[in-house]
Amino acid sequence: MQVYEHPTFQMACRQFDRVADHLQIPESDCGRLKFPKRSLAVALPVHMDDGTTQVFSGYRVQHHLTIGPTKGGLRYHPDVKLGEVAALAMWMSWKCALAGLPFGGAKGGIACDPSKLSPGEVERLTRRFTQEMIPFIGPQMDVMAPDVGTNEQTMAWIMDTFSMHAGYTVPSVVTGKPVGLGGSLGRREATGRGVAYLINRAADVLSLDLGKSTAVVQGFGNVGSVAAYSLGRYGAKVIAVSDVGGAIYNSMGLDLLALEKYVAQNHRVGGFPGAEPIAHEQLLLLPCDILVPAALERQITAENAGKIQCRILAEGANGPTTPEADAILEQRPEVFVIPDVLANSGGVIVSYFEWVQDLQSFFWSETEIADKLFRILENSWAQILNCSRKQNISMRLAALSTGIRRVYEAKRQRGLFP
Ligand code: GLU
Repeated sequence: MQVYEHPTFQMACRQFDRVADHLQIPESDCGRLKFPKRSLAVALPVHMDDGTTQVFSGYRVQHHLTIGPTKGGLRYHPDVKLGEVAALAMWMSWKCALAGLPFGGAKGGIACDPSKLSPGEVERLTRRFTQEMIPFIGPQMDVMAPDVGTNEQTMAWIMDTFSMHAGYTVPSVVTGKPVGLGGSLGRREATGRGVAYLINRAADVLSLDLGKSTAVVQGFGNVGSVAAYSLGRYGAKVIAVSDVGGAIYNSMGLDLLALEKYVAQNHRVGGFPGAEPIAHEQLLLLPCDILVPAALERQITAENAGKIQCRILAEGANGPTTPEADAILEQRPEVFVIPDVLANSGGVIVSYFEWVQDLQSFFWSETEIADKLFRILENSWAQILNCSRKQNISMRLAALSTGIRRVYEAKRQRGLFP
């Protein structure tokens, strides 16, 4: 599958191969489980504000449709490539299966820098992308959601474009929409809240008092910022955070309320008066109890895995730790890893609730949603911890093998067509 050639895809395949070995999946079944079912690459010409026309590359990868529609985010970032999107789609499959959701994995992306585009340009780009995707998406086929560089507004444009084409409103074609358009209460906060909930569960197991703990968060977008605020509510002292523009540190703990206001005004953490700037590479190496990478893939590598100094590594991002780094971390039992497919699954779990609410046109309260979310997370947590202890394997291997085994069983039960 050379078309997917990319270091992140290679990484996802290596993880898969390790699990396939562990589960003793016959070689003849591996290809059909591992490779995406289908992908679409599109050229997107857009009228720019200066009168020129620029062509962007867009992708959507649907990994498997064995147990229902595919589900996954849409990313706007200059480095987006087909292979990266394919890896992210694969991880969505294992994540959905682990949480017991009736979805396969998908991911999409457009190679662009949204911070350099006007709102009108982003809207035209989004609508053109949706137009190209129409035969390929839908509530029973593929349901998009926000990811890096996209948000509720992006989802509203996708929903509107799809609905204009259908001739009636189809809220269930995307999740992570504004609440007034059929979005779910608690969706925006779900991923970060879930990360903090699982850190609290891990702290219990390790007898770590969160009230006396320190936390470092890489990435201050939708996931990282909510994780930081939620950890603050659990009593943890957040000592450092970062975003694309810079990293900041205060050994006494950051004033999160003041930081929230500063970021709302300045759209970045750099320059926050209550902290000192530090280098990006230094952030991950700070001594702390809790480290939350909540930015992009491949941040914890063979170079820094031996040097990180935390008790809990909670992966808010997808794929932040390379297999080489994993091998090092497996030799460091003092670092407890909450792997991505478990740690950040709160987002897609509440996306599932949003999809269900839209299909029924019947909406739940925020308390009901939080309750149902924590129940699923608790269930996954207990299963994975138990599996890891019983089989004496890492939390990552336990989580991935649980997800992959479920997809494998579903494929075997359906059989091979024709
Ligand atoms: N982009 C998010 C993720 O990586 C959310 C996906 C969704 O809600 O469909 O999990």
